[in-house]
Amino acid sequence: MTQAFWVFAEQRRGALQPVSLEILGRARELADQHGLSLEALLLGHNAAPLADDLLAYGADTVYYADDPLLQTYSLDAYAAVIERLAREHQPDVLVLGHTSLGRDLAPMVAARLDTGLSAHVTGLEFDEAGLLRQIVPAFGGRGMCAILCPQHRPQMATVRPGVLQRPERRPGHRGQIVQVEPEIDPAALRTRLLEVVPQETDVAPLTEAEIVVAGGAGMGDREGWKLIEELAEVLGAAVGGTRPPLDEGWIAEGQMIGQSGVTVRPLLYIGAGISGELQHTVGIRDAGVVVAINVNPKAAIFQEADFGIVGDAREVLPALIQALRERQECEVESLP
Ligand SMILES: Cc1cc2nc3c(=O)[nH]c(=O)nc-3n(C[C@H](O)[C@H](O)[C@H](O)COP(=O)(O)OP(=O)(O)OC[C@H]3O[C@@H](n4cnc5c(N)ncnc54)[C@H](O)[C@@H]3O)c2cc1C
Repeated sequence: MTQAFWVFAEQRRGALQPVSLEILGRARELADQHGLSLEALLLGHNAAPLADDLLAYGADTVYYADDPLLQTYSLDAYAAVIERLAREHQPDVLVLGHTSLGRDLAPMVAARLDTGLSAHVTGLEFDEAGLLRQIVPAFGGRGMCAILCPQHRPQMATVRPGVLQRPERRPGHRGQIVQVEPEIDPAALRTRLLEVVPQETDVAPLTEAEIVVAGGAGMGDREGWKLIEELAEVLGAAVGGTRPPLDEGWIAEGQMIGQSGVTVRPLLYIGAGISGELQHTVGIRDAGVVVAINVNPKAAIFQEADFGIVGDAREVLPALIQALRERQECEVESLP
């Protein structure tokens, strides 16, 4: 029997999450190299067009479970459906995105299937024995290690968003969509969704933003942090940060950039009051132009920077914000 590489295709409000396509792209390469069947798992309601998309991005088979109870994420419902399908089809590999949903769902599925799970994986490959090498940063980002799961199946991992390349669509790629019965027992669901309140923002999510303004401990306090937000607003940028701003509550968890946070690939990254520890800079390696602002001319962040400004961010940022505002006003005035 051909072994199957399963990718959990995460959808939210009818849209596939970019990380699911990133995993699908890498899984397609591995499936081609090792003769595996690439199979996507789609749970939702009225989401059939997404199943077509998954085929277009390279899946050989899409298992699609459609039920109103699967429209929005429910741990009990999703875990039950995936467990049942995995027991039935015995996939060799099951990979999810390391999103807030994936972080919740993957450990529950792994526990139910009595298998291992590698979290926050940044690379996937097979060794000579056909075992999945799940690559994760180790020793505070100073090394990489490969985790293997030799004895239990499926080999499970969650992959960090933004580290794998998003694949191109493959026109003409053929596959099958298998409609599966969800068989959910509503009485077994311990949580009930009352309302979804989307966060209102004009700015692209951090992982997709073209410009990122990030701040670190050097911003000092909440007042100082407002300068990061103000600069981001002027530039139409997304706001990110290092660990200390997260600990201080200036940013939410999804805004921390780095080894334990998200990876960003903006055209422009501006980092102020950031020392440049590896655990942070590992998340900006694919950024286009990097601008660093730090009082310490020896700060490690300058090693990563294309442009460095040695100075107090609390003085440099207000000047930068003012200059950008003046320029924007000139542009508006010169419009016909
Ligand atoms: C396992 C592990 C995982 C981690 N994961 C992450 C992660 O994902 N992301 C992450 O960010 N961190 C992570 N960390 C923490 C990381 O090691 C660093 O501690 C953190 O990145 C430092 O944040 P910082 O640069 O804001 O603070 P600091 O290292 O304290 O640096 C502050 C900088 O601000 C400068 N400064 C001070 N005042 C000013 C001023 N007025 N104007 C301009 N510059 C000024 C200073 O010169 C200094 O360089 C992790 C740590 C571990 C152990």
